Amino acid sequence: MLTEKPSTEIQAETATTRKIEQFMAVCCLVVLAVFTLQSISNGYLLLIISQMVLMASLFLYIIASLQNSLVAAHIMTALISLDILIVVTIYYYGLPGAYWAFPAIISSNLVGTRRTGIVLTITLILVIPAVLWMQGVGFNMLTRLFGALVLTAIFAWYSATKAQELHDRLIKESTIDPLTGCFNRRHLTRFTRQFIPSQSFLILIDVDDFKGVNDTCGHYTGDIVLKAIARLIQEELSESDLLFRIGGEEFLVFESQAISAGTSDLAERIRACIDTTAILPTRHITVSIGETLLSHHETFESALQCADKNLYLSKINGRNRVTRA
Ligand code: GH3
Ligand code: MG
Ligand code: MG
Repeated sequence: MLTEKPSTEIQAETATTRKIEQFMAVCCLVVLAVFTLQSISNGYLLLIISQMVLMASLFLYIIASLQNSLVAAHIMTALISLDILIVVTIYYYGLPGAYWAFPAIISSNLVGTRRTGIVLTITLILVIPAVLWMQGVGFNMLTRLFGALVLTAIFAWYSATKAQELHDRLIKESTIDPLTGCFNRRHLTRFTRQFIPSQSFLILIDVDDFKGVNDTCGHYTGDIVLKAIARLIQEELSESDLLFRIGGEEFLVFESQAISAGTSDLAERIRACIDTTAILPTRHITVSIGETLLSHHETFESALQCADKNLYLSKINGRNRVTRA
């Protein structure tokens, strides 16, 4: 099993979220103070409402921490608080309170999750005109406000979609090896920083005499061989296993499935599968493998060194074999 620990990225994200929340909390307090100064009874009412929001936030925090998504809960809480404040402002002051809806719609879409953004936006677009209508605001004004809210929502949603697409593409490009589709070495570094992979088998795979493949069949064919090998390894893996291309013709597998059994035949299956597959018609392709159990080592680096030593033993003992320790 791989034990998760917070990454530096997630910690940074949480710190930013806290700052946004603190900023929103200060905004809420300022609004509250203004209300209090204008009318003691309104201020008192808002105080009660803030208490209720606080209780609701607490409830959300508990649920979210159970689901391990604390960051989303922070944002959700801040946005819901903001929306409630806006509706309350409109309730007391009518149309001028509706101006707050525009930044709220934009921030709901850009700061929170996509679903949070859509839900809060639709709620605001429907609730604000309804509250104003109850206060007797004219149909013409309501139509114009509704149109402006919808346009803002479309703009915010479109911007958030584009930002998300860019984010996804950057993540993909920084984690995936373009030739084989495996995770790349950079992602391995990130992965081993984020996880304590204490209970996995580490399987280091190196293609035998790959330089010979390039020299006799050409670099392009060499690339085709690498792609085929990555696909063959992937076919042997289960969903919880991870495959990295960590060097030119070197692959690394984290296998966590077989831990309960205490033994694994995955390395041997990978070796046999490549050995028996005619990847090239003119040349027999094989791999050598070094394997170790991560729990036998203090750190990931020492485990990798051990797997590398075992791989070396496979090489000097004739290649096309698995060595484990
Ligand atoms: P051994 O059996 O000892 O592992 O020998 P080998 O020839 O496989 O090992 P060596 O490290 O000498 O050669 C690896 C070769 O892999 C050299 C390099 O040009 C080639 N290579 C590295 N990356 C790529 C790649 O992306 N595409 C292709 N086609 N070749 C690559
Ligand atoms: Mg090599
Ligand atoms: Mg090699």
